[in-house]
Amino acid sequence: MGTVYLVGAGPGDPELVTVKALRLIQRADLIVYDSLAPADLLKEAPPSCQCVHVGKRAGRHSAAQEEINHLLIAGAQKYETVVRLKGGDPFVFGRGGEEVLALQEAGVPYRLVPGVTSSVAVPEAAGIPVTHRRLARSFHVITGHIADDELDYAAYAQLEGTLVFLMGLSALPRIASGLLSGGMAGDTPAAVVSQGFTERQRVLRAPLSEIAERTKEKRMGAPAVVVVGPCADLDFLYHAPFGIIGSDSFYARMERAMDGEAGMLSHVMRIRLSVTEEGRKQLREAFSRIEEFDWVVFTSRNAVAMCERIAREDRYPLHRLDHLRFAAIGPGTAERLRAAAGHVDLLPESYTSDALGQALAEQVGKSGRVLVIRAEGGRQEMFSIMDEAGMEYEKIRLYRSEGELTVSPEELGRTGILAFASASGVDSMFALAEQEGYSLAGKRFVCIGEATADALRKRGIEPEFVTHPHTAEELARRLKLMQR
Ligand code: SAH
Repeated sequence: MGTVYLVGAGPGDPELVTVKALRLIQRADLIVYDSLAPADLLKEAPPSCQCVHVGKRAGRHSAAQEEINHLLIAGAQKYETVVRLKGGDPFVFGRGGEEVLALQEAGVPYRLVPGVTSSVAVPEAAGIPVTHRRLARSFHVITGHIADDELDYAAYAQLEGTLVFLMGLSALPRIASGLLSGGMAGDTPAAVVSQGFTERQRVLRAPLSEIAERTKEKRMGAPAVVVVGPCADLDFLYHAPFGIIGSDSFYARMERAMDGEAGMLSHVMRIRLSVTEEGRKQLREAFSRIEEFDWVVFTSRNAVAMCERIAREDRYPLHRLDHLRFAAIGPGTAERLRAAAGHVDLLPESYTSDALGQALAEQVGKSGRVLVIRAEGGRQEMFSIMDEAGMEYEKIRLYRSEGELTVSPEELGRTGILAFASASGVDSMFALAEQEGYSLAGKRFVCIGEATADALRKRGIEPEFVTHPHTAEELARRLKLMQR
């Protein structure tokens, strides 16, 4: 007969699991897990381990408790190590007790492995302490999931400590009105923390009298923890002074470059670049008659990298590019181009669309056919200059750049210094701010590269500094100096 381990999987972050839990997972023969157990933890299980999901999933009901009990008992008869992995701590509303009773009855040996409970950890993920000197001297963890008449919310209104409701999202209107009618003040701070410790974590703070309505309005999703009491207003999170607007890989480079001071950064907006179908088609078409062109112009290092990738995927015969001369908008693009093609034949003195157009008009003029490879929505200035000079050129809009806010609007509001890695990042951030009504007033701006600086200047903003060279390392060095 094997042993069943009732293991707390912690509040959702796979790193917030105990050492003991991890060791058991690593040698489990069978893992029976809930929806709230972080999926990444299962990757730690040995390849031979069988993992059975018994939680609720969209559209499907959770396995009946009877079934789970049976699974555990049968598992112990077959295997050495059976891990019953439950979100948070197994004994906080996890029906751990019922499973223990079933195991006892069947004479199956079992052990208990506590976990970090969401009732404390999820508020903490939003910077809310469940107790704080003079504000709350106790906290009460209450289930919101119970038949109407069984719960006397009004009685909880008399408690002095912080109230923490689990499974309370759908019952929130009832909870709030119960507390109010029990005499709790309408302006008592309350908070809802949804999907704690995941990328989708969201926090809503509102007075008790408004919390239910705002939760619905903001479409806060389950699982969520509801906190009521003066502590719900606190935010003890560390707020990074520098917000980075750039791609995942740029942010990763920044974290490395800040070595040891990465805590100063937050990735406030992720910029994603993707080759469009149309762009790929246009590029292939142009490459199929590349002999018609004399010059290829790149306005970003990304465009160079994408062309390289497509040429590789297509097994494009690179010797067909031998006759070409290359132009780059700035040193970053030039560096990439030099690595890819071995030479750069034109680089404007200042790194703007204007200057590039000017340089092309002067050095190429009507003497050659030009192919310009760039992003959708890129700067247009160079083309009017090239038109004026009567140049012959074609342009390809190869890729699209999309920005996604990765912090809450509040967090964005608290970030004092915004560091932009690209002109498209500037465009995305300002477009989003306008669309959502976020204010960027009072912020300080810094950036990498003159093209990026130019995008800021077009909005009447002079960046505090522009890095030379245009690298993450240099940006990190300058940001550290700003802290002094
Ligand atoms: N045993 C668990 C609680 C199980 S009850 C523990 O100790 O944490 C399930 C409830 O826990 C959910 O309805 C929700 O209120 C809360 N919860 C668990 N994980 C959560 C998370 N990552 N984010 C928000 N709420 C969570």
